[in-house]
Amino acid sequence: MKAALLYEPNTPLRVEEISYDDPQENEILVKIMATGLCHTDLHFMKGEMPVPVPVVMGHEGAGVVEKVGPGVTSVAPGDHVVMMVSFSCGKCRYCYEGRLTMCVENLPIQMMATLPGGGQRLRKGDQLLHQLFGLACFAEYAVVHERAAVKIREDAPLDVACLLGCGTTTGLGAAVNTAGVRPGDSIVIFGCGGVGLSALMGAKLAGAGRIIAVDLSDGKLEKAEELGADHVINASKEDPQAKVMELTGGGADAAIECIGNTDVIMQAFGSIHNGGKCVVAGMAPLGAVLNIAPYEFLLGKTITGSVQGEIRPFIDVPKFMDMYMEGKLPVDKLITKSYSLDEINEGFEAMERGETIRSVIRF
Ligand SMILES: [Zn+2]
Ligand SMILES: [Zn+2]
Repeated sequence: MKAALLYEPNTPLRVEEISYDDPQENEILVKIMATGLCHTDLHFMKGEMPVPVPVVMGHEGAGVVEKVGPGVTSVAPGDHVVMMVSFSCGKCRYCYEGRLTMCVENLPIQMMATLPGGGQRLRKGDQLLHQLFGLACFAEYAVVHERAAVKIREDAPLDVACLLGCGTTTGLGAAVNTAGVRPGDSIVIFGCGGVGLSALMGAKLAGAGRIIAVDLSDGKLEKAEELGADHVINASKEDPQAKVMELTGGGADAAIECIGNTDVIMQAFGSIHNGGKCVVAGMAPLGAVLNIAPYEFLLGKTITGSVQGEIRPFIDVPKFMDMYMEGKLPVDKLITKSYSLDEINEGFEAMERGETIRSVIRF
């Protein structure tokens, strides 16, 4: 089967023939049908986040279960599934608390780029390959832990469903769960890529009174307006912080940063009123540092992270899928382009140039 491999940071992905081993205890083999291109892949590809190589990239995939290993009970061959960037073991304190995206297994899976417990099921000849986030969705087949896959309805298009594996749930959850947007709230969203526009959709669903979208691209801001932004700010033309202050009369109830840029995080924190909440959903390079005056905390301001939108994958993903199918959550509007696996580097180049919102590899 074909897969896209990273051999060294800052080199193009190489699409090569590799093979997979059979799924073992609690593992499943999934025929991947579609995978989204996410900025997080790019962070690893550019060496801004460490990952062992060679690694099969891709973590926003959806497909059909082909085969199950011993002990698998949650899915069966033929089931349609979305792969989750956040694994949840179901047995740690976070999982028991219902905070599944915070599962203690996540960090080792991310750092080692293996399946939970350290397994590697992909190989090129004799060499075992790493699997980004324990998934490896830029491949025609993936062997993953059954708890990394959420079963969804079979009439849902998989090229839309795959976005629920990372970017879309991250944005939706950042607005609905972490920012806790309530009817009438004002909210400002920094960055109108897949995560930011999903946060916008979440804010809209939660009944936000005023939604302000900030980006550097007029094209992305047009999309934000199409999805329900009340105001848009092109940060290359005007100071977003001052403009938000003016529009909201002293600051927004909540700000969501969806880029992972420390300057933008500071702008987001500076755009909320006293007592407001700033959610950082973007992934900043490892080692980046924020410079905040602690006095701001005496003004009751909150800044917080959000791991994959603090969703409960097995409940929320099927729910969001239903909402999409009923026309209440237009996730398909985020997809601007699709590529074949062979064109994958082209897709990432277009992402870096800011030309795409979400592109999808269709297998
Ligand atoms: Zn992602
Ligand atoms: Zn856990």
